Amino acid sequence: MTKTTLSVTLALAAISMAVPAGAYAQNRTMEEQYASWPAYSGTDLEMTVDASGTHFALWSPKAEAAEVLLYNTDRNSTAYSTLAMKRSDNGVWRVSVPEQLYGKFYTFRVTVDGHKLDETPGVWAKAAGTNGKRAAIIDFATTDPEGWSEDKGPEIKNITDAVIYEMHHRDFSMDPSSDIVHKGKFLALTEMGTHTTFGDKTGIDHLKELGVTHVHILPSYDYNSVDEANLAANQYNWGYDPYNYNTPEGSYSTDPANPSARVREMKEMIKALHDAGIGVVMDVVYNHTANNDDSNFSLTAPGYYYRHRADGSYSDASGCGNETASERQQMSDFIVNSVKYWADEYHIDGFRFDLMAIHDTETMNRVAEELKKINPSIFVYGEGWTAGDSPLPVEKRALKENVNKMKGIAVFSDDIRDAVKGHYSNAADRGFATGKPGNEETVKIGIVGATAHPQVDYSKGNNSKFAYAGAPTQVINYVSCHDDLMLTDKLAKSMPGSTEAERQRAARLAQTIVFTSQGTPFLWSGEEIFRDKKGVHNSYKSPDSINAIDWTLKHKNAEQFNYYRELIKLRKTHPAFRMTSAEDVARNIVFDKITSPNVISYSIKNNANGDSWKEIKLVFNGSDAPFVAKIPKGDWTVVARDGQLVAEGMDTSRGGSVVVAPTSALILARSK
Ligand code: CA
Repeated sequence: MTKTTLSVTLALAAISMAVPAGAYAQNRTMEEQYASWPAYSGTDLEMTVDASGTHFALWSPKAEAAEVLLYNTDRNSTAYSTLAMKRSDNGVWRVSVPEQLYGKFYTFRVTVDGHKLDETPGVWAKAAGTNGKRAAIIDFATTDPEGWSEDKGPEIKNITDAVIYEMHHRDFSMDPSSDIVHKGKFLALTEMGTHTTFGDKTGIDHLKELGVTHVHILPSYDYNSVDEANLAANQYNWGYDPYNYNTPEGSYSTDPANPSARVREMKEMIKALHDAGIGVVMDVVYNHTANNDDSNFSLTAPGYYYRHRADGSYSDASGCGNETASERQQMSDFIVNSVKYWADEYHIDGFRFDLMAIHDTETMNRVAEELKKINPSIFVYGEGWTAGDSPLPVEKRALKENVNKMKGIAVFSDDIRDAVKGHYSNAADRGFATGKPGNEETVKIGIVGATAHPQVDYSKGNNSKFAYAGAPTQVINYVSCHDDLMLTDKLAKSMPGSTEAERQRAARLAQTIVFTSQGTPFLWSGEEIFRDKKGVHNSYKSPDSINAIDWTLKHKNAEQFNYYRELIKLRKTHPAFRMTSAEDVARNIVFDKITSPNVISYSIKNNANGDSWKEIKLVFNGSDAPFVAKIPKGDWTVVARDGQLVAEGMDTSRGGSVVVAPTSALILARSK
């Protein structure tokens, strides 16, 4: 597993700005065969309980036989009963028993080409025991926290109204300074009133204080790598190694052996966040599985769920040894029904698709449309790239460059990411905010949310050469995430000899560009208190000593935190930063002609998007020399100047020549 997660991260990094070469040959015979298989996407797949008993229904069209094995415990026991299944319609095998088997566990075992395959919990296990090897039969009604039927996440009209905070459960709560009891667990995000010894808020109170609208939790479905039978070992993993897609991860529960615990505790987490006004986005990884021949997909319907090369081997656009085949009906339905299930049963408010371009645009459009039917506030975004070539034709891939074919989906902007802070793959490389000229036009691509703008020359873009977004609602802006060097470490590596104060200043400028740009801002947890990961760029299985947030930094870097909080407040208070159409952006954003390198100056005019401010003037100076901006005469409120930012304004200005200090943002606003 180690290898696969490592390779996905490296491969991801390597491909995150390029469109892969054309599709290579697929195995035609296999392809035609799979296309002829009947599909079945009923919600009664694979196990349901009702008044008449317990019903099993496994989709496995080519099986010669199928059976259900029933167990009293989640492991270390033999089946107390084995039920032969009968072939039914649409490739489904069925068997029922008249009892409600709550408390029992089950697996399936199919025979294909004369071989009895290994047992599997199936692909639709909604509850499971330790390490997910046996699916569990539980009464979901008993897993709902009090008030669950009234629970709902924040209502947002457009994704651009969201402020997304990406986090890992262990990062957020493992350090003793968090003051959180349930460290590394779902329940960590239910604890109120936690604080450091300095009195600074931690946990959910910290999120409220910061003002983010959504947390984006790293994979929280049941993944493969962490041994749930040995939680004392304190293993860490990001979780990009899916095992059971429809069951929460056991190591984040207080008792992996109790199948109801992980379900109930995850719901309690979501309820607590919702009660705090915060939505929950789940990171989903349908593009590959941790295992190949012994994955749950392979053990139920060998071959079908994956793409193959001409020689019959697994193709590998994920860099993890396989890639799934969303263009096939049963796989497409699986993805759609799985996210619908999370939205329905767990009230999830958004989904982040890992290596989304491995999926086809049609499936992604179905995902967005079906989720909106459940809850119009749900949004979907993803990585608009693959980690290797795929048999799926380029025009069908859910690529960044194809986002215009997916109106309801947003993609990460590697344009703004690399232009502002320097290239992700070269630690020493600097960007606009750290004094490297030549990135100005690409930063402007970020400012306009990758939409067409008369003053932005896409031919000068470092990554993208055309306006790929049809609207700013299709872009996620960021300068760091769990992958690659986080901003703090990137600044340390690219600014040798600098002081921490200088690096914090650069971080403020970088994030000011992100949070005032059109599109949706995205923040990696702990950056707001300037935490680091000790220079580790791929910390997917690094120990807590690398990954856990030291919350005492909130005291040490209090001014940094206040700046971020004010920045978020500024964005949330002013709709001008949250326009929803390319036309509005083109009309309301006017760039000033600037010849100095590393300086960008622009206005957001016309009370954009219903803003109370008639005009907002933003000048970003990423150089190490002061820049004298010519500001029109008027009654200006000074919002940001010389590394300080106060959302409601800190001073007034009559305009004229205004000095913009090195590595800082000047933001002025006027109402008339
Ligand atoms: Ca697991």
